[in-house]
Amino acid sequence: MFAVDERIEPRIRIAGFQSTLGSGSTESEETMPKSNSSPIPARADVKTFPLAAPNRGRVNLVGMTRPTMRKALVAKGTPEAKAKMRVAQIWQWIYQKGAREFQCMTNLAKEYRNFLQENFSIAVPEITRRLVSSDGTRKYLLRITDGNEIETVYIPDVDRGTLCISSQVGCTLNCSFCYTGTQPLVRNLAPAEIVGQILVARDDLDEWPEPGRHPKNETRLVSNIVLMGMGEPLYNFDNVRDAVLIAMDNEGISFSKRRITLSTSGVAPMLARVGEEIGCRLAISLHATTDNVRDKLVPINRKWNIEALMKAIREYPELSNSDRVTFEYVMIKGVNDSLDDAHRLVRMIRGIPSKVNLIPFNEWPGAPYERSDPEQIRKFAHVVFRAGYASPVRTPRGEDIMAACGQLKSDSVKLRRSLRTAREDRQALANSMRPN
Ligand code: SAH
Ligand code: SF4
Repeated sequence: MFAVDERIEPRIRIAGFQSTLGSGSTESEETMPKSNSSPIPARADVKTFPLAAPNRGRVNLVGMTRPTMRKALVAKGTPEAKAKMRVAQIWQWIYQKGAREFQCMTNLAKEYRNFLQENFSIAVPEITRRLVSSDGTRKYLLRITDGNEIETVYIPDVDRGTLCISSQVGCTLNCSFCYTGTQPLVRNLAPAEIVGQILVARDDLDEWPEPGRHPKNETRLVSNIVLMGMGEPLYNFDNVRDAVLIAMDNEGISFSKRRITLSTSGVAPMLARVGEEIGCRLAISLHATTDNVRDKLVPINRKWNIEALMKAIREYPELSNSDRVTFEYVMIKGVNDSLDDAHRLVRMIRGIPSKVNLIPFNEWPGAPYERSDPEQIRKFAHVVFRAGYASPVRTPRGEDIMAACGQLKSDSVKLRRSLRTAREDRQALANSMRPN
C-alpha cells in the first residue's frame, strides 16, 4: 500500500474547455499516480491559475437557490424582466459547464459579463492537499473562506464513483467511535461550501462535459453523492437542503434523487422535512439494538431514542422496496456484534423496506474500540440476510490514507490538545461499557 500526499499550491482550477477562451493562464501538468483498480484517469491534465483576487465585497453566486440569485442580480441592477433568464444561464455555466469566471459565459453580452464580474464571484473551496490511495480513493483537504479545513473523499468503484461530502466543520455529537467527533472546532458549512465540494471534485477528476454533451448519471465519474463526511447534516438542515436541491436540479448538477444519500445519526424530528423538502435517500446510523448501548455509542440517542427514531423512519415518505432506507451498523468487537444483537436488529426493522450496511469499525489512533472479527461479522450478516434484508459488509477503502468513513479529520496541529482530551473522555466511556 502506498499513499501519495500532494500539497497543492494555492490556485484555481478551471475546466479544460474554458482555457481555450484565453484568460492568460499559466499551464502546468500534474502527474497522478497510477492506481490498481480505479476507473478514473491515471493522469489528469489540469490547468492551473494563480490564486483569485480577493472577493472585495463581491457576492458569491455559488450555492444560491434560484430565487435568492434572482434577488441578488436584481438588487445590483439586472432588470426584473431578464432576471429569470439570467439565473438559468448562470446556473448552466456554473453547474453544468464548470465555469469559474464570468468572462467565459459567451452567451451573455460583454457588458453584462463585466457587470457580473464587478459585483459577484464564483467561489468554491480550494484544494490544499490531496491524498491518493493505492485503491484509487482520493481524499481532499479543502480550505474554506475562513481558513477552516474540511475533507471530501472520492471512492471509485467498478460501476459507480461515490463522493462523500461534509456538511459541517467537525461535529458536535461526539459519537464515541467516530474520529470526526473528536474535532473541537465546529461550524456549519454554507451551501456554497457543500455544493462546492462536488464542483471541486469534478474539477480534479476533469469531469466537465463538452458543451452540449450530458453524460448519464451512471457513466459519470462522480455518479453518487453521500452526505457521510464530517458533520451531522440535519443540524445544518437549510444549507444542506439548498445544496442538495442544486445538485438534483436539472439545470444544476442533475443528480437523480436516488443517487444522493443523506446519513444521519438520528435527528428524528427532522426526518419528515428531509422527505418533504429534499426527498433523497436516507441512511440511518443505527449502530446498536438497545438504548443502553446506543446511548453510549451515539449519544444523541438520549434525546431521541430507538423507539422515537424507528417511528420517524416508518413515517418517511415513499419508502418502498426500490427506495429503501439504509441502516448503517458499525461492527465493534464485544460491544454491538453479538448474534443476539443481530436478531434484535431484524426484529426492530421488521416491515421497513431497508438494507443493513455492516461497517467494520475503522480503527483510528487512540480509538477506544476494536473492529469485530471477520468471522463474527460474517455470522451477523448471515442472520440479517436470512431475515430477508440485504446485509453487505462494507469493504474499507482508502485505509492507507485514513480516508475510510469515520476517519475524516483535518490534521491541523492546533487541534491536537483538544483531541487528547476527547480521547480520554472516550476511553472513560468505553471502559464504562465493558463488563467488569
Ligand atoms: N453524522 C452523520 C454522517 C457522517 S458519519 C452520521 O452520523 O450518520 C458517516 C458514517 O460513518 C456514520 O454511519 C458513522 O456512524 C460512520 N462512522 C463514524 N466513525 C466510524 C468509524 N470509526 N468506523 C466506521 N464507521 C464510522
Ligand atoms: Fe458526528 Fe456522525 Fe461522527 Fe456521530 S458519527 S460524531 S454524528 S459525524
